[in-house]
Amino acid sequence: MRSCMLRAGLSRATGISPFILGSPKGWLGSAYHEVLEKIPRVDLATESLDNAIERLWSQAIAAQHQRASRHPLDRRFGSPVTWPGYHVARASVRLRAGDLVTFTVAAPVAATGPGAFVSATIREQEFIACNGKLVGRPDVVRADEVVDYKSGGLFEYDENSQVEVVKSAYVRQLRIYGYLVKEALGSWPIRGLLLPLAGTGVEVSLHPAECEQEVLEAIALLDAYNAKVRAQARPAEFAAPSPAACKWCPYKLICPAFWQAASPAWSGHLDGAAVEGTVPEAPRSIHGGAALAITVDVQAGSEGPRRAEIAPLNPAVHSSIATVGVGDHVRFVSLRVRPDGVLTPTSRTILVRVADVPSLGIAGRYHEKANDQG
Ligand code: SF4
Repeated sequence: MRSCMLRAGLSRATGISPFILGSPKGWLGSAYHEVLEKIPRVDLATESLDNAIERLWSQAIAAQHQRASRHPLDRRFGSPVTWPGYHVARASVRLRAGDLVTFTVAAPVAATGPGAFVSATIREQEFIACNGKLVGRPDVVRADEVVDYKSGGLFEYDENSQVEVVKSAYVRQLRIYGYLVKEALGSWPIRGLLLPLAGTGVEVSLHPAECEQEVLEAIALLDAYNAKVRAQARPAEFAAPSPAACKWCPYKLICPAFWQAASPAWSGHLDGAAVEGTVPEAPRSIHGGAALAITVDVQAGSEGPRRAEIAPLNPAVHSSIATVGVGDHVRFVSLRVRPDGVLTPTSRTILVRVADVPSLGIAGRYHEKANDQG
């Protein structure tokens, strides 16, 4: 919402899933969270902790794999054990789930001392404030802290201070959690604790004034978004395209604002090259029929006009290439630009015919509720 309202809207849009490539790292994170959410409810009198963790992990991973296997783009990632970070996530879930259960059984929180306000550990509880506009579900609330398990890196590079800092989105999320907890339980947590997949956690101090300011800004953003929806603004009026905002955005392929704004000045500032152009000749078979090559006269996107030969493309991964004919307009995202300027596919490259891209519009109803992603 903060960097681009259109991106926030598209995250809840229906009908665009076939054009959005998921992330195995994100699926591992979802499975990891699912195990941590369920493990405290296991009856450890009838099942060992190790067995319970293994069972829950296998179930969660199988569900992620099944969904990915049915998706036209995501199925390229194959078996879960080949997903980058699989073994780290599996080792980490054993560690964190064990800690969680041990904490529950052996070390209940005492409700004494400065800042102490919770006499029991609260997990995965939904907190609501601001007349329902603010909703959040911290992983754990205990004693005077809010704990959130993260499957991604905790740090980002700050251009101003030129050092690595805790991701600002995570800090904002913790502040909003702090406010939600205060509203529900009557007392402020004094810190947030971010626990990564691997390594030690990071503490973030929570100050009431900063938490309140964060909430004011989040509600103002939500109100501005909803005002646009009510006014039936065009999708472009929600968009804030820039190399920084669009770099990791999964909606580039279908985002009209991106293709209007992107220019060769963006080259090297995205998660790979994004190009749009016409196809002057039919895709041709190479490598003895194992792959295809396509020629594109590039007219838009992050690279300058040129005739590009893009290969090798696996037809099983890029099934849309079977429908591409002479004169078609196509888009590619997440291409690698070699030092000699040649564009080559990566494991995250997507190809689409522009004629197949869904048009975006505002639904007839909307939700006046902010989620905890800010
Ligand atoms: S591609 Fe850029 S402009 Fe489009 S939704 Fe994503 S962040 Fe917003």
